[in-house]
Amino acid sequence: MTQLHKQIIILVACFALLLWLSQKISLPFNTERTERVPFNKLVELIEEEKIKTIELRGDNTLFAGLTDGSNIESRAIGNDSIITTLKNYDVPVEIIKQIAIDVKRENGFISFIAILIPTLFPILLIVGFFYLLYKQAQGFSSKTFSFGQSAGKQVNYEGTEGRSGAVKTKFKDVAGVKEAKEELMEVIDFLKNPKKFTDLGARIPRGVLLIGPPGCGKTLLAKAVAGEADVPFFHISGSEFMELFVGVGASRVRGLFQKAKRNAPCIIFIDELDSIGRKRGAGFGGAHDERDQTLNQILVEMDGFDTDTNVIVMAATNRPDVLDSALLRPGRFDRRITIDLPDIASREEMLKVHAKGKPLTDSVNLRRVAERTPGFSGADLAYLMNEAAILTARNNKTQITMEELLPSIEKVMLGPERRSRVITDQEKKITAFHEAGHAIVAHTLPEADPVHKVSVIARGQAGGYTLKIPEKDRYLHTRAEFMADLSVSMGGLAAEKIKFNEMTTGASGDLRYATQLARKLVTRYGMSDKIGPVSFELEDTNGFSQFPWEELKSVYSDTTLENIDTEVRRFLEEAYNNARKIIELHLEKLELVAEKLLEQETIEKEEFDELMQTA
Ligand code: ADP
Ligand code: ZN
Repeated sequence: MTQLHKQIIILVACFALLLWLSQKISLPFNTERTERVPFNKLVELIEEEKIKTIELRGDNTLFAGLTDGSNIESRAIGNDSIITTLKNYDVPVEIIKQIAIDVKRENGFISFIAILIPTLFPILLIVGFFYLLYKQAQGFSSKTFSFGQSAGKQVNYEGTEGRSGAVKTKFKDVAGVKEAKEELMEVIDFLKNPKKFTDLGARIPRGVLLIGPPGCGKTLLAKAVAGEADVPFFHISGSEFMELFVGVGASRVRGLFQKAKRNAPCIIFIDELDSIGRKRGAGFGGAHDERDQTLNQILVEMDGFDTDTNVIVMAATNRPDVLDSALLRPGRFDRRITIDLPDIASREEMLKVHAKGKPLTDSVNLRRVAERTPGFSGADLAYLMNEAAILTARNNKTQITMEELLPSIEKVMLGPERRSRVITDQEKKITAFHEAGHAIVAHTLPEADPVHKVSVIARGQAGGYTLKIPEKDRYLHTRAEFMADLSVSMGGLAAEKIKFNEMTTGASGDLRYATQLARKLVTRYGMSDKIGPVSFELEDTNGFSQFPWEELKSVYSDTTLENIDTEVRRFLEEAYNNARKIIELHLEKLELVAEKLLEQETIEKEEFDELMQTA
């Protein structure tokens, strides 16, 4: 809209300028700076030889220049030429010959325009306005239309001409995800050698849905499939459609598929499929209409593939549960590949991939880095390696050592340190005791993850932090571990209460985390004795489980929901009391750790363990 506003302003300015110009040009006619005389007076002056020049201008004005340099104006009379008229007045021919007589008809035209423009101005303005609107509308549709022809921003298209080296990403650039790679080998095989499959009457996979958390390499994997099969790769993101006007998304999809078919064999990759592929009719309003139309178009295009069309649609999502079930029907995204967060071996592999081109010292042990990074995605690990390289450069070193790698882990986990945040001494003291509380509970409970670092330096959202890292990847968690985790979360709050007999807002993050965890224990893992081994998760039509509190209300009785609520509370209270008890038992350690924190702001694992032993 701002674009339109700008154009209107320019238009108005242009007209204003024209108007002003026309007034300037017609100045001699309109203003009376020159004296106006009757024609016979002019004839008199001519006879006295006082006139040097005469200009006949439009609307029959005679503009005469006198010998003394002044000007006068008069009107020509009759239809004869000026010379004939003067002759008729008996002016001697010799005198007439001395006068430079000029005819300036074009001035007449300008003056005509000058009269016309002010009259036409409003009309022109209106016409111009509508023209702009029309242009604007055309601009939109032509943009949409051109999508089919040109790659544009929306499609990140790698290599039409010259198949070789089109997409550079290969499977070797994707670490881990072994199962996914195996599944995708078939797709590559098909793209390379479709005849092998069609001769056997095999139905070709159309759509492959990659499911997994953000940053776990879905895009990378899709690209690598294109790279391995040596085919073009068309990339489009679902969220881009949400900015568009109704109808544009659908035609964009049409354009994309047309282009893909022309370039077959190839891969279309739709990122963030869930932002277009949500269950249809879920709401009202433009955005939903647009989404529905875009989604329908995708379905139409996928159904419209001939059996021998060599186009494979890959899509990525981390919310398969919200997808419209039509998308998952046979012939559409019927292959689903789940990609999980990497395990320790995969993490080490990923670190190696991203260490390429970065000089490491021999003492660097990537296994140790992998050990300390459970829960990291591929993207996190890439970020980690990059951070380490930057830190190395900042330290004026030429090779990356563990000294850069380990702090980079924390940076990725917690965000950059915010040393500049100004806190009062009292705030710092409260933070120190809060973090000491977490650390002591974590240290005391054998089921809790060991403390790696305690700090009162603000980081990301947190005022301070206690870094706990599990000793190894775990896929099963026991009830005791969960209880320990809950107690550790409550440790900060408990310490504040014990030391200052006061609670602060600093614990809100801990409480949020603990409450969510407790809710899972009760409703998902069946770990509540009172409620028993029941899962309250509901399964949707796609077979994905989800947890809609709204729907729960319609399925379960009020008593059941009340019981859940009570149990969640009981878990939290138990954890809080547990934390209090532990801290009260170790009050002198709490003081010790908090004092050390106030003194040096951070305590590393070794130092912390030592402190806990001495006290
Ligand atoms: P997603 O599409 O799942 O959100 P991406 O494929 O965009 O994730 O991954 C983002 C980045 O993370 C990649 O560019 C790559 O640098 C890194 N990465 C993710 N997974 C892997 C992996 N398996 N191997 C190597 N690098 C990876
Ligand atoms: Zn806390």
